[in-house]
Amino acid sequence: MSIFKSNKSKLYLQKEVSLLREEIAELKNINSKTTENNKSVIDNKNLANSIFEDAAIGMAIIDKSLKIVKYNQAFYNLFGYNDNEIVEMTYLDFIPEEKKPKAIQLFEAMFASKISKYQNEQVYYKKDKSLLWLKLTVNVINNLNGEPEYILGMGEDITESKRQENIRKVVYNISIAVNDSQSLYNLINTIKNNLKLIIDAEHFFIALYNEISDNFSVPYIIDKKESFKTFPAEKTLVGLVQKNRKSLLFDYKEILELQSAEEIFIAGNLSKQWLGVPLFNDEKVIGVIGVHSYDNENAFDNNDLILLEVLSNQISASIQKTKSEEAFKIERAYFKELFDNSPEAIAIVDNSSIIININNEFTKLFGYTKDEAINSTIEDLISTPESKDEAQNLTIEVSKGKVIKTDTKRKKKDGSIVDVSLWGTPVMLDKGQLAVYAIFRDISERVEYEKQLEEAKIKAEESDKLKTAFLTNMSHEIRTPMNAIIGFSELISDPGTDKETQKEFTKQIYNSSNMLLQLIEDIIDVSQLDSGNIKINKKSINVSGLLTDLYSKYVKEKEKERKKNIELLLHNPFGDSIAYIESDAYRFFQIFSNLLNNALKYTNSGFIEFGFDINQKDEPIFYVRDTGIGIPEDKTETIFDHFTKIEDKKILYRGTGIGLTITKKLINLLGGKIWVESNLDIGSIFYFSLPGKVILQQTSNSKSIKHINYNWIGKKILVAEDDDINFAVVKASLAFTHAHIQRVMTGEHAVKKCFNENFDLILMDLKMPVLSGIEATKQIREFNSNIPILAQTAFIHNNEKELCLMAGCNEYITKPTKSYVLLDIINKYISNGK
Ligand code: ADP
Repeated sequence: MSIFKSNKSKLYLQKEVSLLREEIAELKNINSKTTENNKSVIDNKNLANSIFEDAAIGMAIIDKSLKIVKYNQAFYNLFGYNDNEIVEMTYLDFIPEEKKPKAIQLFEAMFASKISKYQNEQVYYKKDKSLLWLKLTVNVINNLNGEPEYILGMGEDITESKRQENIRKVVYNISIAVNDSQSLYNLINTIKNNLKLIIDAEHFFIALYNEISDNFSVPYIIDKKESFKTFPAEKTLVGLVQKNRKSLLFDYKEILELQSAEEIFIAGNLSKQWLGVPLFNDEKVIGVIGVHSYDNENAFDNNDLILLEVLSNQISASIQKTKSEEAFKIERAYFKELFDNSPEAIAIVDNSSIIININNEFTKLFGYTKDEAINSTIEDLISTPESKDEAQNLTIEVSKGKVIKTDTKRKKKDGSIVDVSLWGTPVMLDKGQLAVYAIFRDISERVEYEKQLEEAKIKAEESDKLKTAFLTNMSHEIRTPMNAIIGFSELISDPGTDKETQKEFTKQIYNSSNMLLQLIEDIIDVSQLDSGNIKINKKSINVSGLLTDLYSKYVKEKEKERKKNIELLLHNPFGDSIAYIESDAYRFFQIFSNLLNNALKYTNSGFIEFGFDINQKDEPIFYVRDTGIGIPEDKTETIFDHFTKIEDKKILYRGTGIGLTITKKLINLLGGKIWVESNLDIGSIFYFSLPGKVILQQTSNSKSIKHINYNWIGKKILVAEDDDINFAVVKASLAFTHAHIQRVMTGEHAVKKCFNENFDLILMDLKMPVLSGIEATKQIREFNSNIPILAQTAFIHNNEKELCLMAGCNEYITKPTKSYVLLDIINKYISNGK
């Protein structure tokens, strides 16, 4: 069929229309015409008929019911329907569903004489369901009364030019979408919508090939019957395209043949036609784009295949681009997340030290915001003046491609210095080093920890040294009195020793024993203070009385030490009034004793003054001042540490170095503080504070200690004691009281004896064989609740006192006991006796 050029066809059209119009008018009025006109009418009719029949363009006449009452050969050629089929059809059966309402409207308007002529480009379905584009001209055909009767439609086939135009449009749209689409999905969606314009893309898919798994993934599918996410390449039509590396167009028969030859396996619905085109990237098939139809065996032809091939290049390029853009975006997102929220502070710096970017941790560590940091020189921003050169060198080294790691210091925005561990890593690109990654980690805690560790190590070494010194000292401190005790004990029993010498030896033994006892008490105190086992017994204590007692004690001590050159002075700011404070009397006495012992030890002449003053808050500040050897300034703190002794090369001072440790700990326990002021060779003042105010009580006669000689003639005392020496001490202490003493050596005997005889008092040793003192007391209490039982122990256990009192003892006395203390306690019970 020849194709008319559009202006040429226009000419024909005009001519044809006017002739047709005439012919139809004639047809209608044929019977009413006169015979003389018949010949010319028939001629005209034949002419019109032949023009209508032979016209190169499709023509059809449509009546008011939109039925096709007449059509020509060209119309048949265009659509392919025969007479029998056309009889059953209306105009609407030729056009797509969505066009129908508009067509009805148009015809109504034409039959109502509102429109006489209409021109348009219109899409139709051929009999084989393929699309047909016509350049359409419709004209109203009026009857003789001038009323619309028929419509003449004439259509010129413009499918090919329309197709070419659409292809150009589609290619253009797709190339725009390649640049604009935000994601692969959007792009494919655009491709699909555009394809619809040129081929039947009702069932459309893009499958991307994965070489490793030999599978296809389906990022996009429009299919009314199937939906896949992935499927294997093997035994599928898509797989065949991939393997053959070329476009394949199959019809229904071919698909069935492939299936029976087991070339493919299709589980679901079979297509009537299937077209797949490979997507190439370089030489590789990266996927397949396809369309298929479930109901039209002529949906696609070779032109469609070529068209899809043309598009496939565009599509693969755009898939590649979108894919790499997406991959880039993903990588960027990963990097951004990693960079922004990294636990390390990171700065990216160019080769001339200018900061390009910093992350959140950098802001947290150094205090600078992104705006403040970016474009500054990193050395100016965070280096200390001392580390500036070092920082510059590091940047230079890293920009040469080296990785640097060092621990250093950097400055924060607020000026404070922070210890950091710094990694400098070059950022490389193909062409070379691009920038520097500076990663900072705050290591202040680690540095502090290391410092503490170092200090602890030094301390441990020191304490090790001190301990060795202590043990050496201790051995000396123990051996000296022991030596005296053993030596004099031996000498005393020598028959040649006269009475006077014996007395002197006894005195030496007594003094040495006291020294040993003091040493042991100190050691126990230190260990109990360290383990927190010392309990404080606070009550109102008579400070004035205790100071007077201390004065008396140290006057004697001074004499004993033969320190006649020293004057002992007591300072009490309240004179006759008695000063009271809330504290522990025993510990108060112990603290002062330790300080006075030292003052006496380290002073050879001058004076020792002790006592107290009150501060502005009416709190007492106690002190011991001496005119002794003094303490070097750098030792005024350490002398309070365990085992610290200041060695004097010239004179050897005896001592273990624990007196001041005990003193300080006790004062702290009582809630106070101790400190010292001292000058070498001039003297020292030890001060200590205790909490609470001083309360005064006016008195006329002060108390004095009385030494009483007790007379307990006729009183019976039972002494339960397994140790001979301890019994000898008790016996000697009671010797002048004339009391009658009986001894038992076990708890069991004590119970028996008490059951059978009457006693005025029992002295009960707690640690005895067979039955302990506590058990014995319990048993005695079952039959005698009145007899005073005084428990004696050499072992100090935490809750022994409570156990003892609970068992029924009246007193708990620790050994060794000064004889007058023991007598005083016994007197309390015996004089009230039965
Ligand atoms: P020590 O048993 O050695 O006396 P301390 O703990 O009581 O132990 O005292 C520690 C050290 O403090 C002493 O070895 C001595 O060097 C110094 N010291 C304590 N008191 C005085 C003082 N009053 N005058 C001079 N030095 C003193």
